[in-house]
Amino acid sequence: MALVIDAHNHLGIRPGARQTGADLVAKIDAVGVDKAVMFPFVEGNFTNDPIKEAFDQFPDRLIPFCAVNPWQPDAADEVRRCVVDWGFKGLKLHPTINGFHLSDPALVDPLFQVADELGIAVIVHGASDLLNSPPEFDIMAKRFPNVPLLMAHMGFFWSVDQAIAFAKENPNLYLETSRAPIFEIQTAVRELGPEKVIWGTDSPFVDYEWEFKKMERATDDADGYAAIVGGNIERILKL
Ligand SMILES: [Zn+2]
Repeated sequence: MALVIDAHNHLGIRPGARQTGADLVAKIDAVGVDKAVMFPFVEGNFTNDPIKEAFDQFPDRLIPFCAVNPWQPDAADEVRRCVVDWGFKGLKLHPTINGFHLSDPALVDPLFQVADELGIAVIVHGASDLLNSPPEFDIMAKRFPNVPLLMAHMGFFWSVDQAIAFAKENPNLYLETSRAPIFEIQTAVRELGPEKVIWGTDSPFVDYEWEFKKMERATDDADGYAAIVGGNIERILKL
């Protein structure tokens, strides 16, 4: 049986929301989710220390990704430190909150170079504003064809069709389903096949009962469903 893995979860505190590693594990325990990818909220000052602490506490349940602000001069070093010293599996970027274009060569290429070299995945907020629109992902997927790149929110709302088109064109570009409605997810699965679609919830902003109802309707194919809710990210991260 493939694992059930939630590929998008935040730890930390921000106005209106907070979540610890223990909170997250309690949530996934209650609904039969095996593992959860976790990274920090990136509003304001943040560090990757809480991710390390949660990983130390729950190494079999939580999958650590670092987050960095590319404007910080030590951002690439921080990614390297998290992966090499701490065993992190990926990198999260948020172009809108931290204020950069995903395809900005000076700011972002050094981070993708580290990802390429160390063999980790990159997940990026992809909710179709100018800083993180699907063409920005297309540029990066082509510039770094060996880096698995996940578009969180799959271009929702206005750019889902573009997101699907670019994911079709780029073998390393995947669409992650958090916050996206079921019609758009069904379309992505039909157009791309289930192996390019990855389930994530964006917890703590999650209602798992709703999430499972949604994802059960993503495809009629049992193997496809298993791939979407865990198998794909398990393969990409070599878990
Ligand atoms: Zn998120």
